[in-house]
Amino acid sequence: MTVSQLAKSIAESPTLKLNEEARLLREKGEAVIHLGAGEPKNRAPIAAILSSAAKLNTGDVKYTPADGTPSLKKAIIKYTEENYDKIVAPENIIVSAGAKQSVYNILYSILNPQDEVIILAPYWVSYPEMVRMVYGVPVIVKPEDGGFYPRMEDILKVVSSYTKAIIINSPNNPSGVVYSEEFIAQIIEYCEKKGIFIIMDDIYHKLIFDGKKWPACYIFTKKDLESSHIIVVNGVSKLYGMTGFRVGWAIAPRELITIMTNVQGQITTTVSVLLQAAAEGALTGLQSHIEMLRMTLENNRDVMMQELNSFSGVKITKPNGTYYCLPDFRAYSNDSVKLSQLLLKKALVVTVPGKEFGMEGHLRLSYAGSVKDVTEGVERIKWALDPNSPNEIYIGDRKIVRDWK
Ligand code: PMP
Repeated sequence: MTVSQLAKSIAESPTLKLNEEARLLREKGEAVIHLGAGEPKNRAPIAAILSSAAKLNTGDVKYTPADGTPSLKKAIIKYTEENYDKIVAPENIIVSAGAKQSVYNILYSILNPQDEVIILAPYWVSYPEMVRMVYGVPVIVKPEDGGFYPRMEDILKVVSSYTKAIIINSPNNPSGVVYSEEFIAQIIEYCEKKGIFIIMDDIYHKLIFDGKKWPACYIFTKKDLESSHIIVVNGVSKLYGMTGFRVGWAIAPRELITIMTNVQGQITTTVSVLLQAAAEGALTGLQSHIEMLRMTLENNRDVMMQELNSFSGVKITKPNGTYYCLPDFRAYSNDSVKLSQLLLKKALVVTVPGKEFGMEGHLRLSYAGSVKDVTEGVERIKWALDPNSPNEIYIGDRKIVRDWK
């Protein structure tokens, strides 16, 4: 079969693949611990369920405008005013099937073939693949000091006449770090001057710990929205635990939103009206769910830190937000894919190889599950990797014998 070479070269989403592997193992009755999860275990907020159910009950389930229902846009305008201190117009918003579709749509709408997009490592797995899918060139910037905080000097070295955009994701998946206000200010000032788009992927913006502040991007530009190069991406997946609803949005100058709407109108038409109603319910309903989730995550993060700090050889940068951390396992292996496979096969713990995020030798561990998942998961990893650990353990009712080095 002859198919597109480009399409054929696009990698399977490693996180979705691992979710499926974990599901299949669980279905077989294996006591799998999922430290790969990018979603919390909560039920969707009741306001989201009721709003969606009410719409379904009307039986009036039809197409909506390609850029989203006016009432969801109204809720997004309010959200943006409250969280970004910015008044935007309905024409500055497009609703899409998850933040994921927004990011893809933005890239499709701004890039010409060979245009470059700067991606800061460690990065979310989908960014480089999406850039390649629209014939762009991902340019990965790794801080020279090996840390997780991007530095202007490293970025300036790679800017070229082809640089069209930079993607900023803070709080960051996979490292959990929150970029400094100075860095965000500097990068926005620089890009605005150069006419480079700044794509702010803010999907985790309220899941922040230790009293840290998340700076909303618009305070760092003097330009009005129509002449600014800032594009904001957000959605209900992470803050409301509504990953399966598939609703996200982008905020950008009207000219760009019009183009993105035309693109989306030709591909998916719109997001289901039922799911848009759910997102509207979440945004306009009780917001205390988010704080509860944030507190749970902060507590789980503390437990994860405690476990990892007593793990000899493992180096960890403390995450200040998200569901994740990205410990350095190079004392045990430089090959994170092999390491992750060993842990899944031998200790039944799902982890995501750092290689997928541009950080070989690391593993992304999620603390979005329960405290028990975190403690038991890390204990199992310790058991599997420490040559001095006992020869056998029980996982569920299965005895596992340590027959590897
Ligand atoms: N951006 C980042 C950084 C993410 O981690 C994710 C989900 N893992 C997304 C975007 C996509 O979110 P959504 O479910 O809204 O498509």
